[in-house]
Amino acid sequence: MDRGFFASRLKRMENKELSEFMSLIGRDDIISFAGGIPDEKIFPVKELKQLINKLINIKGHSLFQYSSTDGKKNLKEYLVNYLKGQEITVNENQILITTGSQQGLDLLAKLFLNPGDTVAVEDPGYVGGIGAINSYEARIMGIEVDENGLRIDILEKLLKEGEKIKFLYLVPDYSNPSGMTLSLKRRYKLLKLANRYNFYIIEDTPYRELSFYNKPLPALKSIDNNEKVIYLGSFSKYFMPGFRIGWICGPEKIIELLTTAKQNTDLASNTLGQELIAYAGQEGIIQEQIKKIRPYYRQKLVKMEEGLTKYFPECCSWKRPEGGFFFWVKLPTGIKSKKLLKQAIKNRVAFVTGNSFCSDYRRGDNYIRLSFSNNTLSEIDKGLSILGKVINNF
Ligand code: PMP
Repeated sequence: MDRGFFASRLKRMENKELSEFMSLIGRDDIISFAGGIPDEKIFPVKELKQLINKLINIKGHSLFQYSSTDGKKNLKEYLVNYLKGQEITVNENQILITTGSQQGLDLLAKLFLNPGDTVAVEDPGYVGGIGAINSYEARIMGIEVDENGLRIDILEKLLKEGEKIKFLYLVPDYSNPSGMTLSLKRRYKLLKLANRYNFYIIEDTPYRELSFYNKPLPALKSIDNNEKVIYLGSFSKYFMPGFRIGWICGPEKIIELLTTAKQNTDLASNTLGQELIAYAGQEGIIQEQIKKIRPYYRQKLVKMEEGLTKYFPECCSWKRPEGGFFFWVKLPTGIKSKKLLKQAIKNRVAFVTGNSFCSDYRRGDNYIRLSFSNNTLSEIDKGLSILGKVINNF
């Protein structure tokens, strides 16, 4: 096909690694540690079945009608209250309901970025977020992540040297793929930098409720006094992703502009999903679900760490995440994750190669991301024992 017909941005949109690992999802002949997807066995389907019948009685046909672009009022009311619990005081005009937080990322990139603008991201960072930024032809500036999250000192040095960024995109709590959390000290430092160098911070929080040991640290948004933080939330990981409902919370003017951008994208998010989530929130079903999933996923995390210790060579290293879905594992020197994946798939185990998440492509060569969310405890044990053998024999 003549590629000349297509927009030049297509080159920036293609993501072979992402397509490859999405295609592994749902293959039952493979133990896959690839997708960061929640375990559907724990979805509160029974409760929702009752709720949907009740809602049809209350709302009738309107449950299946279009809704307004900015989102359903009752869902926004629920979120205003939810955010209050996180010491974030906002009103409904500061919230936009989105079609998953992935759409939030796309809309933000669409609103802020001209081709060639610079955006700082975690390196390694969330492949879907970086992909959204890339498709608006921005320049990606990867900032290394260590055990305390994004290296603010590196960001500061670059800004001091004259780099200008439109925004920084990060996942401060139990990040994807590193599993790391931005320390409190760095959170304050980052907010100071955003003020001094005038950039926005996109705080993406899909794993925040998946805290398995301690309460999460204060959200950047809750300690920001200068309207520099735009906060993204999602019901996908701690409730259910199939509704495709997320939200953005930010300064009113920005929410207004994002609403216009959304209008041109999909008119409105899913009405039924918004209503169900709003009622599930009001009736305490979401809170109950959060209480249930924390120990449920924590035992998977523990199993994965046990398996890594038992089956992987000693020279592999990782830091146990405090929440979320992922282990970011450093392979023995000289093992390239892409070659390892080919061998692993032959042995019916899959993971995501580190390169997929790194803006400096080679940086991830020696890493793999393992997700423990969607496997049973025995699959985690079996999959890791196979993968450990593959690495040992490599
Ligand atoms: N942000 C991060 C960090 C993610 O890991 C994901 C899903 N993998 C998303 C955003 C998108 O989630 P959703 O669109 O389902 O809300």
